Amino acid sequence: MTKSGIHQFQGGVLTSAQALWGEILSGQRFWETGCVGYAFPKTSLNDLEIGSQSTYQFRSVFTDNFVNFAINVPLIEPSNGKRIWLSDGSFSSESVAPRELLANEPFKSYRARPFSSPAYYLRRTLEGVEACLQAEKQRLLCAIELATGNNWQVGVVRLSIFDQLFHLLGKDFLLDETLTIHPSVKSFLEFANTGIQKILASATNATTCIMSAYSHAECTRRANLNLLLSQLGYCALTEPKQAKLALELRHRSTLALSGERESSISPTPLVTLTNHFQKSSIAVSPVHGAIYLNRKGRFQEGIVEDHEIKGLKKQVASDLTKLLNNSGIQNMRLELNPQDRPNSQAPDLMLCADGLDFHNAYGSPSIDHINHPLTCHTSNGFVGLKNHPQQIFDTLSLNSLLVGSLK
Ligand SMILES: [Zn+2]
Repeated sequence: MTKSGIHQFQGGVLTSAQALWGEILSGQRFWETGCVGYAFPKTSLNDLEIGSQSTYQFRSVFTDNFVNFAINVPLIEPSNGKRIWLSDGSFSSESVAPRELLANEPFKSYRARPFSSPAYYLRRTLEGVEACLQAEKQRLLCAIELATGNNWQVGVVRLSIFDQLFHLLGKDFLLDETLTIHPSVKSFLEFANTGIQKILASATNATTCIMSAYSHAECTRRANLNLLLSQLGYCALTEPKQAKLALELRHRSTLALSGERESSISPTPLVTLTNHFQKSSIAVSPVHGAIYLNRKGRFQEGIVEDHEIKGLKKQVASDLTKLLNNSGIQNMRLELNPQDRPNSQAPDLMLCADGLDFHNAYGSPSIDHINHPLTCHTSNGFVGLKNHPQQIFDTLSLNSLLVGSLK
């Protein structure tokens, strides 16, 4: 007799999809891989590179040695080998690989995301919710078709719907029967429940999992870590005008290198201008929640010497904790990188706090109690697995399980 179950999942200090999946897929803490978000500063604090399994250079549970499928899994790229891959929308123009699958439904209609940002639907909530539900339903149809059609060695399905709906509707939408969209949500949940059971029942063992790695809590404020680090004397921000100019110059040189031509001078007219740092900065946060020392061994314009790393980490942690506590932010979780390797790709500190959202845009206070999103990510999610007694999973135990299933 086999049975399937939903287990709790704990992400610790990590609350972004990429960071959590970096640990699940690699079996290494983020200190080892450097994966803490959508992108990371590789050689310059002012130039972020979008992360994937190959840019972080880790070995993942998805290799060409095993027949596997990855649906909506961050960091994993398409492969010419034995993988069936359905995009999570982060870095490839392809939606499905191999392309032959696109000849038929349900893969033909697969879309990683119904829109590039939930902000697009801010004033058209109903339309946005329906689009999200439809995209996720299609994803589950693909997952059912794949999971029940082969004897997979590893199969992973990531659900995005709860994250998207929390962003659009706030944290209590699942319980609120008065919402116009409630019947649509209810009908989707019934469909999803049956679909998830089918997918898990088809697995030969705990080789197929369905995951929603984090959840949402009410957001009470948002913070710009760079402004806080500026107050403490660690960060020197470039003035917005100069930052915009630097962004445009970088965009032009990227275009020149790639040989493309573009008439528009403004690279990203709809994207907020993010913080740009002066050379004299000691510690800055180009990635939400992550603080990097401006290390000589790592960054082109680095100024922090190797022997200073250890002491500076402690000092920044202590000063920042005091400042945040004095601003009424409690329940902080702050992790210091236990290693002092000067060329490590990882941040030196990683921070999260209940109800606190991070941003690194110009033009708002360091801690904003008035303008903030409805919700922010929390580090608890769920994982659906077959035949497993363990009740609470974390990133590394889930990796052990997936790797163990390959032996
Ligand atoms: Zn989100």
